[in-house]
Amino acid sequence: MQKIAMKTPIVEMDGDEMTRVIWRMIKEDLLTPYIDLRTEYYDLGLPYRDETDDRVTLNAAEATRKLGVAVKCATITPNRQRLEEYHLKRLYKSPNATLRSYLDGTVFRAPIVVKGIEPYVRNWKKPITMARHAYGDVYKNSEMQVGCAGKAELVFTEAGTGIEHRQLVHDFAGPGVLQGIYNTDQSIHSFARTCFQYALDQKEDLWFSTKDTISKTYDGNFRAIFADTYNREYKEKFEKAGIQYFYTLIDDAVARVIRSEGGFVWALKNYDGDVMSDMLATAFGSLAMMTSILVSPDGTYEYEAAHGTVQRHYYKYKNGEKESTNSVATIFAWTGALRKRAELDGIPELVKFADALEKATIATIESGRMTGDLAAITTMPKESVTKLDTEEFILAIRDNLEAGLK
Ligand code: NAP
Ligand code: MG
Repeated sequence: MQKIAMKTPIVEMDGDEMTRVIWRMIKEDLLTPYIDLRTEYYDLGLPYRDETDDRVTLNAAEATRKLGVAVKCATITPNRQRLEEYHLKRLYKSPNATLRSYLDGTVFRAPIVVKGIEPYVRNWKKPITMARHAYGDVYKNSEMQVGCAGKAELVFTEAGTGIEHRQLVHDFAGPGVLQGIYNTDQSIHSFARTCFQYALDQKEDLWFSTKDTISKTYDGNFRAIFADTYNREYKEKFEKAGIQYFYTLIDDAVARVIRSEGGFVWALKNYDGDVMSDMLATAFGSLAMMTSILVSPDGTYEYEAAHGTVQRHYYKYKNGEKESTNSVATIFAWTGALRKRAELDGIPELVKFADALEKATIATIESGRMTGDLAAITTMPKESVTKLDTEEFILAIRDNLEAGLK
């Protein structure tokens, strides 16, 4: 069989521990036999990040902006314990934080839905994609504990004129706490555009929700910028695509999400997104079945699995023990990136290949062959389930893929 040719390379960011092991298996068993894979390789594994003083992460971010499409393996975010384990020069920032701030991106998380791994919410039939605004609010707050009675005020001083605007926050009669948060119109507008564009690409409705009945100015500003962006830039495109933009209060949205069938994109402010993404991942069944896509307003795409490096499995693997690590989200990160690259470069065979690999992966699980994490939660009858180890699962997918390509 002739291998599929690529035009533009994809930015490839390698990673750490068990996911680094899976990364190599996916490339060797599922990709390079079929594709003349062209990637620009960056090793984001912790040892090389340390060797380059983390310069490699920034280089990968720059390459992503240049080439437009990237795929990333899970990486260790160093903490004290990792500092000792890897004899690091210092504690580096999380690579994802570096990429997000460089690309000014929004993170979309979508579950991979498979028969036999049922969502806890019975009526969810289609995936719900969540978009979290990853800038500002309580994550860049300034907060204070006050120890006695006193007056707390919000003061804004205009840069040009020095004019002060003051507003009372609270007259404290005794000890308490207070907090200041902010966001910028520019960041909110980028977030809105990225969400509208993503929903349009997916041909799915976009929902957005805040608490603007209580926070009339702050959350009200988010709502207004979304409405304005929609009316100016997306209304016609949405109508043409037959999809809708829908704003509702966050409380109402939560109730509606639970009653829905799924099949839409849900945009959320930073804190709401933090909380709701964990709820959605768990409710859809498994973190190992969740993909994550970083999309920037100027149209770059970075695909990865939502889970981490699966450290516990890696230590067993290093000891020569058999383990059963789920590679589905990492496979879908690759297929997502390949499909996007293929669409941009006009390579229909590569789009077809990405579809075929996803189908083969889902078919493998639906035929009862799956990794241990899924075997533990599947609704399939026990006698039709075979638990496979990490490599056996990837090879089972390969068998299905071969059959599908014929
Ligand atoms: P984790 O790697 O997501 O794993 C947590 C647990 O979830 C695992 O021990 C395993 O449970 C289960 N699990 C997650 N992914 C799985 C998979 N693919 N197949 C089977 N089981 C899976 O989180 P962590 O252990 O808290 O973090 C490990 C490292 O990953 C940390 O250094 C952290 O900094 C990093 N991290 C990176 C990213 C990223 O790059 N995007 C995201 C999160 C964390 P059992 O042990 O019960 O089998
Ligand atoms: Mg969270």
